[in-house]
Amino acid sequence: MAPGITLKKGRFSQSLRKALEKYYEAIAVGPSYTAVKWQRWIDNANAVPLRATKDGNKLGWIVYNSTESTVEEILRDKESTDEKDLFQMLDALIARETLVAAEILKEDTDRYRWMVKYGFRPTRFFTKDDVPVVKMDLSTSILFKRLERHKSPRPYRRKKRVAIERVPESQTYPEIKKSLENLIRKLGGLKRFVKPGQTVVIKPNIVSDHGLKDGVWQGGIVTDTRVVKALVEILLPVAGRVIIAEGSSINRSETSEMFAHYGYDRQLVDLDPQKVSLVDLNTDEQIEKSVPGGKRMLSRKIPLTLEKADVIISVPVLKIHFAAIVSLAIKHLQGAVPPLEKYMSHFFGLWQNLVNIHHLVKPKLTIIDGLVGQENFGPISGTPKKMDLLIGGMNPVAVDAVAMRIMGIDPATSPPVLLASLQGMGPIEPHLIEVVGPQIQDVMSRFQQPEIDLTGGRDITIHGENACPGCRGYLHFVLTKLRRPDPKDTTRLLIDRPFEKKVNIFLGPTHDHGINPEEQNIFMGICQLHNAHQGTHLPGCPPHAEVIVNGLFGLFPDVEKPKYANESEEKKLGEMLHHILAMP
Ligand code: SF4
Repeated sequence: MAPGITLKKGRFSQSLRKALEKYYEAIAVGPSYTAVKWQRWIDNANAVPLRATKDGNKLGWIVYNSTESTVEEILRDKESTDEKDLFQMLDALIARETLVAAEILKEDTDRYRWMVKYGFRPTRFFTKDDVPVVKMDLSTSILFKRLERHKSPRPYRRKKRVAIERVPESQTYPEIKKSLENLIRKLGGLKRFVKPGQTVVIKPNIVSDHGLKDGVWQGGIVTDTRVVKALVEILLPVAGRVIIAEGSSINRSETSEMFAHYGYDRQLVDLDPQKVSLVDLNTDEQIEKSVPGGKRMLSRKIPLTLEKADVIISVPVLKIHFAAIVSLAIKHLQGAVPPLEKYMSHFFGLWQNLVNIHHLVKPKLTIIDGLVGQENFGPISGTPKKMDLLIGGMNPVAVDAVAMRIMGIDPATSPPVLLASLQGMGPIEPHLIEVVGPQIQDVMSRFQQPEIDLTGGRDITIHGENACPGCRGYLHFVLTKLRRPDPKDTTRLLIDRPFEKKVNIFLGPTHDHGINPEEQNIFMGICQLHNAHQGTHLPGCPPHAEVIVNGLFGLFPDVEKPKYANESEEKKLGEMLHHILAMP
């Protein structure tokens, strides 16, 4: 990080104004540009001038917009061609603010050059103060590299409590209910979470229909209905209303079908039809809410049912996710937003947007269903792993950290969990978490993680050494669709089809391979946006599987694309993507 650099809130002084005017003289935008910019800062209480010093010596200024997490200006006291001090100022900024963006003039090609070198990528072009501006977003992959070994900027006053409860191997319904009662007791008892008459929303995971095939339960894919039923029974004597709410993944099935598929109507609503109801979060009325800090997105649309709830209880499953490493408390709330928001999460940056959703939808309690977990290629196509556990707590980051250690996985390897912890949402460090119940080492059982195969084909080369698990996982997922016989010549795989021009797929922020404009180049994700003009770009962070499928199958126009959904759902997907991509 930035040794000896300090950033202190300063004021809009004459020396800052002089530095601003001097800088823009060289870009020849005219004095009115700096005058307008200056006045905008004076009028905006959220624009903060930060004085950077190094070992007590003045180094420069950053003007930082805290509601949008955006660097509006960065200036040095002394002119220099060396970027080192600019990098150090940014290092000091991200050490306290983590993921930031910047706005620069389109004409400012030198600033663009060094910002790309630092790790920013051009995500939007627009006009501000009548001049063309580029929004530069810091690559999340670069952020993680730069913050390696960095401690969370916010200290925690108290340890976060996470409880573990063993469930008897026989997993009968009375045993599950008893274990759930024990778990809640270890966390302070139901009274701590629910007051008489309150509306409680339970958010289970019923992402798809794969959890029940031909009437046979497949553990580890969706929340076990018995856990939800036991929770409803525990809540009913206290709560005024119990709503079970979910927004199943749009490219699989409608949520109401999932409720029926898993028998929620018969097994759960029938417990007390006056008090228990089901809500499809995909079609619920929505309310737009500002995102604190405005990282990646300034606002999100949230289902009204969640906004109005007195208490939200999140009930994810103990499982692996091929791109996020795990799908536990933090990842679970992706299912709490409507379909277009799900897609926008991917488009603007899934890891940050998962954290953002947790700022707006705040479960009071998380209970991880670990009766049966899922290892290998989760969250849908992995293998069940019987664990006989329930894990719960109030802080979703601490809950995920404990659950991941039980799975034998370092919590810092999951991008959304790491980002949430760096942004002060909760600790992943063991000394900041109080574990109640059996200790982690007594229940730990290593989960197999999926083997990500990014080998290309005869004429397809993949350059992804420095990509985060997001792009790697999603690309692997789509590449498996190319590892099948080529209909043009069944003696070879589709991925090995010869091409006149070689194909390169670039992912991650940096790579050692030079870009040959004579070849076919595909660039994945926000990390590769700076190269988009040199080939085909697949937008997103990580790009959604559908975007990658469209991009890669474009190389094989004679081959039918794989389908994940029925036709009407696929059409909806296409329209939603079109809507997102057409956004300014
Ligand atoms: S674009 Fe891909 S590699 Fe880069 S941070 Fe996003 S998911 Fe990771």
